[in-house]
Amino acid sequence: MRLIQHFIDGSPFEGAPSRTGDVFDPSIGKVQARVTLGDSALVDRAVASAKAAQPAWAALNPQRRARVMFRFKELIEAHMDELAEMLSREHGKVIADSKGDIQRGLEVVEFVCGIPHLLKGEYTEGAGPGIDVYSMRQPIGIAAGITPFNFPAMIPLWMCAPALASGNAFIIKPSERDPSVPVRLAELALEAGLPKGVLNVVHGDKVVVDAILDHPDVKAVSFVGSSDIAQYVYGRGAAAGKRMQCMGGAKNHAIVMADADMDQAVADIIGAAYGSAGERCMALPVVTPVGEETAERLRAKLISAIADLRVGVATDPDAHYGPVVSAQHKARVENYIQMAVDEGAELVVDGRGLSLQGYEEGYFLGPTLLDRVTPGMRSYQEEIFGPVLQILRASTFEEAVSYPSQHQYGNGVALFTRNGDFARKFASEVEVGMIGINVPIPVPVAYHSFGGWKRSGFGDLNQYGMDGIRFYTRTKTVTQRWPSGGAVLDQSFVIPTMR
Ligand code: NAD
Repeated sequence: MRLIQHFIDGSPFEGAPSRTGDVFDPSIGKVQARVTLGDSALVDRAVASAKAAQPAWAALNPQRRARVMFRFKELIEAHMDELAEMLSREHGKVIADSKGDIQRGLEVVEFVCGIPHLLKGEYTEGAGPGIDVYSMRQPIGIAAGITPFNFPAMIPLWMCAPALASGNAFIIKPSERDPSVPVRLAELALEAGLPKGVLNVVHGDKVVVDAILDHPDVKAVSFVGSSDIAQYVYGRGAAAGKRMQCMGGAKNHAIVMADADMDQAVADIIGAAYGSAGERCMALPVVTPVGEETAERLRAKLISAIADLRVGVATDPDAHYGPVVSAQHKARVENYIQMAVDEGAELVVDGRGLSLQGYEEGYFLGPTLLDRVTPGMRSYQEEIFGPVLQILRASTFEEAVSYPSQHQYGNGVALFTRNGDFARKFASEVEVGMIGINVPIPVPVAYHSFGGWKRSGFGDLNQYGMDGIRFYTRTKTVTQRWPSGGAVLDQSFVIPTMR
């Protein structure tokens, strides 16, 4: 059986693995490969390779690093079909969606092609008598990224592109459930001209994550995954003195006002709730219609749109979404559906029990719709991460906005309305990090930045955009004065001020 190896110092690691993990094809429900699981010795090896390679990479002028990024972008584009197929076979999302996953990461690579401009510092002439002040951004050294299963191309690229372009070496610890794409990306980066050792991939589980968090030469760690793990990783890494950014789980709401373009809102919500089998941190698993009449109209249209959904294998070009990632995750989602029913929600459409002919072992779930969900239900408070949409009715705009604001997660939220006053008030007041106004999945473009609030994000710098550059660089500020034949200044025992 195929063994997916670490990628260290420019080549697949040759050593025999002490432990391996199974990599499934979720469409057929069978093991298709094994992934080697590393340990602290492997992390030491990857860090040593990164440490040897990083100074020369950082010493290249930024335009030369940008050229490598341009070639990396071109190679990703040239290999789009191959990468998408690889991604779909391990993750289960349909090919078109895998291309979107890769494309959203590629856009961050495009952004960092402008690294010479992005790294420019600030300069003040004449901050005091004969004194000039300037600042520069220097790479932090060696950084690492720990990534979730649900975006195996986009999220590693969110992290490694700004880190590499800024002159750092980077180590990716991919999800052990779909580890192939990050390795292929590292191979393409090498082909693009990235020196060996500057980008390494170490597979593994908690053992490798802890070794990264404890390693004194790893100076910054970016994490994306579920909130409990994000909080743990944040705490352990910060306690070790590292710069940390840790993105967590989500439970995003779509609020639908009576004046919304209902057909458009339903099309958007259906795509965002069920696309990628709901396994997106920016999915819309909760819809909050305002007013009973809005709720009834919305519900009728949702039921009819759900009837047209097609669930299929990841390579089926006509499927709207594919299987969930694993048998355990399928059982977990089914448990949440039952929990919602037991808590008193109305099961309007039940997606359990779906079986595809010829793919009976695949991890498929049909679309589920639950109505009359209430804020006290555990099935509402927790992230389900499956093709399940919950209707939480509200009587007023204020009540509707209070739900996402009071929820433990604060990743994304959307408002569907034609009323600018509501939209403006909503964007200003809702306690959530990323807002869509008539936009269902408001993942910001690569030149803004991505980050949720509350338990959706630990740390203060977002992913990509200028925050990505700030995260992977340190600012150094120089205050300088040159002898110019002027009088010798008296010695002073008070803090210098610019009077
Ligand atoms: P996960 O938390 O299980 O795993 C994420 C990473 O942490 C993986 O690399 C995994 O190997 C590692 N890990 C798992 N258990 C660990 C432990 N005990 N100690 C240390 N490391 C550990 O998440 P997942 O299931 O792969 O991904 C889905 C989750 O990620 C969802 O909660 C989703 O909302 C979230 N997510 C968030 C964002 C965001 O930007 N906010 C984006 C994508 C996914």
